[in-house]
Amino acid sequence: MASGTLYLIATPIGNLGDLSPRAIETLETVDFIAAEDTRVTGGLLNHFGIKKPMVSYYQHNMRERSEQLIARIAAGESCGLVSDAGMPCISDPGEVLVRLAAEAGIPVSVIPGACAAVSALAVSGLPTGRFSFEGFLSVNKNSRREQLSRAAGYTGTLIFYEAPHKLKNTLRDLYSALGDRPITLVRELTKLHEEIIRTTLSAAQGLYEEKEPRGEYVLIVGGAEEDAPSLLSPEDALAYARQLIAQGTPPSAAAKEAAKKSELSKPELYRMLMEG
Ligand code: SAM
Repeated sequence: MASGTLYLIATPIGNLGDLSPRAIETLETVDFIAAEDTRVTGGLLNHFGIKKPMVSYYQHNMRERSEQLIARIAAGESCGLVSDAGMPCISDPGEVLVRLAAEAGIPVSVIPGACAAVSALAVSGLPTGRFSFEGFLSVNKNSRREQLSRAAGYTGTLIFYEAPHKLKNTLRDLYSALGDRPITLVRELTKLHEEIIRTTLSAAQGLYEEKEPRGEYVLIVGGAEEDAPSLLSPEDALAYARQLIAQGTPPSAAAKEAAKKSELSKPELYRMLMEG
């Protein structure tokens, strides 16, 4: 018997209008839905008048649940995987299930839609060409330090998820690990109190001195500065100075120009030029 399909179905991150027609159609036609929280998904299904059997699939039961789901899909049922909000598998359950499905030769199909990370990046005003999605920072001290020190050297834009009660700590840790950089705090996207604050890491900390952070946040942080262009080796600096002289630059000025592009000083280069 042919296997069913595993559908990864994105759901809204706040505004129910963001559930796509194809997502609705897929939720209606699958045999069952694997949901991170059946109460949350039950509310969504009710809103759209969809009745469908659900099984729970969340962080603490996904190891054993994955095998059961794969067996059902392999036996011919199709399954829609949803999380509480946004794209399954992105800081949400799903990755393991997709891997197992792929290993079992089960077709996996995605119904794209809202994802807080990508939406926040787009609206941030920071460079979008290269970015690193960091998800939630670890609460374990050592892994958190490692994650931050790796992120500190990355020259593309950084994306973090954060819960409101951890935001102040996170802003403080980001500032001490990365230094002062541009940050866009993207709060409550697509909801009534949507707010986009484009500021710096130092100023962001001041925002929450008087009031407590509330709602859901994505933090978009500017990348590290590109390294300064690498310096010329002494041999190349000498060759560059000679080339300048050959083009008519006086030796003293040539030594000065070449010194700017190397670790050698102007007198050192001048002496090397004079020594032939
Ligand atoms: N899978 C989801 C996605 O595709 O965006 C993310 C799930 S993760 C468990 C939840 C985190 O996403 C929140 O803590 C917050 O950082 C971010 N988030 C979700 N909805 C948001 C919203 N409407 N506005 C801002 N951030 C949001």
